[in-house]
Amino acid sequence: MNTAYKQTCFVTSVFEVRKLPPEAGAEAAFAGRSNAGKSSAINALCEQKRLAQISKTPGRTRALNFFAVDAERTLVDLPGYGYAQAPAALRGQWKALIEHYLSKRRNLRGLMLVMDIRHPLTDYDWQLLDWCQAQALPLHILLTKADKLSRGAAASTLQKVELSLRARKRDASVQTFSTLKRQGVEQAHEVLDAWLGF
Ligand code: GDP
Repeated sequence: MNTAYKQTCFVTSVFEVRKLPPEAGAEAAFAGRSNAGKSSAINALCEQKRLAQISKTPGRTRALNFFAVDAERTLVDLPGYGYAQAPAALRGQWKALIEHYLSKRRNLRGLMLVMDIRHPLTDYDWQLLDWCQAQALPLHILLTKADKLSRGAAASTLQKVELSLRARKRDASVQTFSTLKRQGVEQAHEVLDAWLGF
């Protein structure tokens, strides 16, 4: 287990392209539908209870939130998507910021896409998959809340997701994950470690 993630701390919230931090070191980003379990996954990976809750505090939910693992490595929490209460103009603004970040960020090494194992591969998930494919950005899927399904059902969903990706010729890797059972943390660390150059 890589214990370096325990030192991860919040750095800044970014709302505009021109406020993005310098492209130094290696970055890995996290995306997912609101309530998919993204914050819980980041907390589990960093062995901290409330780290990613920072991204949920008022004023920060629509930002790209930057967390430093160390001086060379950064995790970026992208805004959760799926609940479209905001005016269209604002939604357009976040979308532009996220798209800019995913397509232009030169030190971005990969995207962790968090999905509730009971609701995998939504339309927006496919949009992100398409984006990453177009940018040749490595993508790893966490099918989280795996504890909500029986072992058999979780394994079968994993297989179905892998088959759907293959059918659409998407290169993403996939795993099951559970913060409740601390299942899949080491497997996700291996992917992050490779992206971040540990
Ligand atoms: P986010 O909006 O994607 O950041 O989602 P959160 O991490 O806040 O999680 C949303 C809800 O799902 C919360 O009530 C969590 O306690 C719950 N949750 C997250 N991960 C798991 C998990 O692995 N297992 C179970 N049973 N619940 C989870």
